[in-house]
Amino acid sequence: MSHDFNLSRERMVKNQLVSRGIKDERVLRVMGKIPRHLFIEDALYGEAYNDHPVPIGEKQTISQPYIVALMTEALELKGDENTLEIGTGSGYQTAILAELSSRVYTIERIKSLLENARKLLSQLGYDNILFKAFDGTLGWKEYAPFDAIMVTAGAPHLTKPLIDQLADNGRMIIPVGDRYSQELIKVIRKGKDLEQKSLGGCRFVNLIGVHGWPD
Ligand code: SAM
Repeated sequence: MSHDFNLSRERMVKNQLVSRGIKDERVLRVMGKIPRHLFIEDALYGEAYNDHPVPIGEKQTISQPYIVALMTEALELKGDENTLEIGTGSGYQTAILAELSSRVYTIERIKSLLENARKLLSQLGYDNILFKAFDGTLGWKEYAPFDAIMVTAGAPHLTKPLIDQLADNGRMIIPVGDRYSQELIKVIRKGKDLEQKSLGGCRFVNLIGVHGWPD
């Protein structure tokens, strides 16, 4: 079976992102460019640009394109940020963050996923990403504070170490709720205060760790 991935990608941007209100030109441009199908195993290639999450092994998923776009847009990246990502998964979201910020620090608790993502992202030429196999609920102290933090797994509550590692005027996007459904929360640090708003409902795999869910 052969696929015209460029056409699938163009359609994904138009029918799933623009039509649902994603406006940030930089987000639309990178999602129109990054070969999402390479982040998915060959047998599922045909589903890469569909409007739903796709399994990536280890009972984990690559998020639905619209959710990736919504979360990325909400980070308001301009290009000079130090960005922390929790939940590398396939590395697809990592590639997007690497295109839109200056440096990306990404943490994944499942080693095999991290190593696959590291290999692919290096093959694709990204040289501004640091990887770590670790419990991301603890953040990455050595490189804090971060201008942007993206959490791509569902947390039981706002994760304290991540809040502490958010820079002044920094933005964090994190799904918070129970194990089965969450709300996407945007947190902005204003000095000692935190502004919070909801971006709507979502459904993520669990954030497992010291400040997350038990395994
Ligand atoms: N952003 C990914 C992508 O584009 O493929 C999708 C991520 S998937 C929905 C969530 C990931 O978070 C899983 O790979 C899971 O192993 C990881 N995860 C869960 N708890 C974690 C933790 N405490 N630290 C780091 N990664 C974690």
